[in-house]
Amino acid sequence: MIGIRFAGVLACLALLGALPRAAHAEWHKRTDAIMGTRIYVELWDTDANHGEASIDAVMAEMRRIDNLMSHYKPESELSQINQHAADYPVQVDKELFDLIKLSTHYSEITEGAFDITYASVGYLYNYPDHVRPTEAQIKAALPAVNWRNMKFDDARHTVFFEHKGMRIDLGGIGKGYAVDRGIEILQKRGIQHAVVTAGGDTRIIGDHMGRDWLVAIRHPDDPNKVVTRIPLSNAAMSTSGDYERYFDEKGVRYHHIIDPKTGHSASKVRSATVIGPTATQTDGMSKTAFVLGPQKALEIINRMPEYDAVFVAPDGKVFYSNGLRPAEPPPPDASKPSATPSSPK
Ligand code: ADP
Ligand code: MG
Repeated sequence: MIGIRFAGVLACLALLGALPRAAHAEWHKRTDAIMGTRIYVELWDTDANHGEASIDAVMAEMRRIDNLMSHYKPESELSQINQHAADYPVQVDKELFDLIKLSTHYSEITEGAFDITYASVGYLYNYPDHVRPTEAQIKAALPAVNWRNMKFDDARHTVFFEHKGMRIDLGGIGKGYAVDRGIEILQKRGIQHAVVTAGGDTRIIGDHMGRDWLVAIRHPDDPNKVVTRIPLSNAAMSTSGDYERYFDEKGVRYHHIIDPKTGHSASKVRSATVIGPTATQTDGMSKTAFVLGPQKALEIINRMPEYDAVFVAPDGKVFYSNGLRPAEPPPPDASKPSATPSSPK
């Protein structure tokens, strides 16, 4: 079993079955700390130098994207938008422009649960230092949370905020996007079997020596306990959890997924895992259940055949999308005689 831990989000990826790893030397893997999280790359390559250079290329891409999108870096394009877009349309790189615009697609399909302008309130929280805004601060900042107040000029690649005090943050989609870019790089280099993970976002191409990868979803309170395991190949998966960045105060958990309507931590589930074709897609969808609750989020997921989901509710109940539920036995057919096998003719 190949056990990997990604900042506690994804408990592990493991081989389905217990095959001995005969060609071990040809799997190349590395973990790095970039984008404030752990980046993990594992790939199959018969040429060791090419394999290692491919991992280098993915890590370099992660650093490039971090420089573009980090809100911690005042010189990043994202920071420039946050500083000036309420005063004038800020022109940005097409790549960043496209991702910001794409984020509104997820706002649309999640009925506003996913909203990168959450940051207008979200930046008032500081989890490591146990800082949270007062109700008055939330009330003052909340009107700035509304993705519809971002205005785009497709020709000039500008972003304009129609509301003072608006801030955006791509923490809810940037890692999924970076994973997809990493996979694209590997595919261009001819790699056919690989996994790339950034924080809670993973994408797998190919399989693992003819078998699916087995991806475990951890228990929200115990990183060593597994809620369920899902076999995956050629798919992406994002897990969001209230145990990632948080602090507890007087029995209340203040964590990093914010309900855009209330400005409070969204707590309708403890963890949400979404499976789909690309990591940008699954990242854009994995916050929904926290805000809308498991039933409503499942309705949305079940309407879209390319997605599946697993949600862990606060009472421990696990919800599965239709595609992951075991097939139900067919209903008994009253028109046929029961339980008496006909004798062969
Ligand atoms: P990870 O960083 O491990 O990929 P998630 O995919 O769960 O974690 O994303 C959580 C991040 O999403 C938060 O840290 C924050 O940056 C951002 N975020 C929080 N609330 C929202 C929201 N309602 N809509 C969009 N992004 C959000
Ligand atoms: Mg994510």
